Amino acid sequence: MTIGLLKGTNSPGHKGWTHVKCRICGKELDLFRAIDTGDVYYCPKCAKTRGAYFCAADAKRLKYRCPYCGSELKPYYR
Ligand SMILES: [Zn+2]
Ligand SMILES: [Zn+2]
Repeated sequence: MTIGLLKGTNSPGHKGWTHVKCRICGKELDLFRAIDTGDVYYCPKCAKTRGAYFCAADAKRLKYRCPYCGSELKPYYR
């Protein structure tokens, strides 16, 4: 029944692709939901290249600094 979901349905506008993992604790983060909750942080420089996304607790522990490049982490708001 859900087999279609496993076969890379990354068409534009589909909302199932917005899951990333926290780079520190591995917790799954839902970016689509984070737009509302604001509990996901990311590095503008490293998000795409290294998947630099962090849960709110780890972002705080990192003092909102990217562990890769030292940039300030941004909340995933839009
Ligand atoms: Zn985390
Ligand atoms: Zn960075």
